[in-house]
Amino acid sequence: MIKSSVLIIYTGGTIGMIRDFDTGALKVFNFKNLLDKIPELKLLDCEISTISFEEPLDSSNMQPAHWVKICNIIKDNYEAYDGFVILHGSDTMSYTASALSFMLENLSRPVILTGSQLPIGDLRTDAKENLITSVQLAALKGKNNRPVINEVGLYFEYKLYRGNRTSKVSAEFFEAFASPNYPALVNSGLHLAIDHNALLPKSKKKFKIHESMVPQVLVVHLYPGITQQMMECLVSNDVYKGVILLSFGTGNASTEPWFLEILKNIIVRGLPVANITQCTSGSVQMGNYETSATLKKLGIIDGKDLTIEAAITKMMYLLGQNLSSKVFKTIFETPLRGEML
Ligand code: ASP
Repeated sequence: MIKSSVLIIYTGGTIGMIRDFDTGALKVFNFKNLLDKIPELKLLDCEISTISFEEPLDSSNMQPAHWVKICNIIKDNYEAYDGFVILHGSDTMSYTASALSFMLENLSRPVILTGSQLPIGDLRTDAKENLITSVQLAALKGKNNRPVINEVGLYFEYKLYRGNRTSKVSAEFFEAFASPNYPALVNSGLHLAIDHNALLPKSKKKFKIHESMVPQVLVVHLYPGITQQMMECLVSNDVYKGVILLSFGTGNASTEPWFLEILKNIIVRGLPVANITQCTSGSVQMGNYETSATLKKLGIIDGKDLTIEAAITKMMYLLGQNLSSKVFKTIFETPLRGEML
């Protein structure tokens, strides 16, 4: 079998930091010397190359333009590598993973995002295991000498998840991510236990990237007590191009006439409004209760079991495709990259 080649793309985040033993401060690590700093990587049976953002970012500063940059690095190196590992701050990693899943179409290679809660040089760091196993997953080939994983994954603390199914759930624990509505693709124990049934199939179509992301997505988190006056700001304002409604339970919201009138007003203007649940797990079921049947009648989009990260980035992606309202709704309600039921 031919040796796999993996490109590591460093965008920033804690994983790329080492502590300066003289000053105690965290500083960015020179990725050119990655193999010297983590000699364990040499034991992996693959060729590793690295590329780094000129200015590594704390992921709180990540923007759609950076997603485009990552997509272009992957596009330019697509034929030369069997897999890609993206080192990224954990804070917005699920947003980037979700966005990339839509921006990279027809993947036939693994794109694995990882990071860490502690810097790579720290004694108790989680960075080494996350990085080493991510590289191993990106290099993984089947008997046919083809990559096993053909999608955007997120590896953290012994689990590979589908990226667009994840959310960051802990600011404290090494187990920082969860995928409440979809099983882990791989569990890393003594062996890498791959759930082949959970993986997306390899695409036979030509790989392409989508660079046009429209970021003007407004998220409205409903809560008991939200006032008519506040909601009316949505009507008098035209800076947003779409709305994600974070509703209660299985997609329920107030049946107050003023509330429904405001939503109707937005939809009549041709703007998409998608309904996703505030609950961490489970799905919207529009029409199950009167409080969601009214939303369905208005033409609100059923966001099913999308995470907030996947809902926002899917809307950014579809807004960039210039679709009619009807087609937008149909495509939003259709799973494109395994992101929903
Ligand atoms: N603030 C950091 C970031 O997201 C945290 C981390 O790397 O985990 O870039």
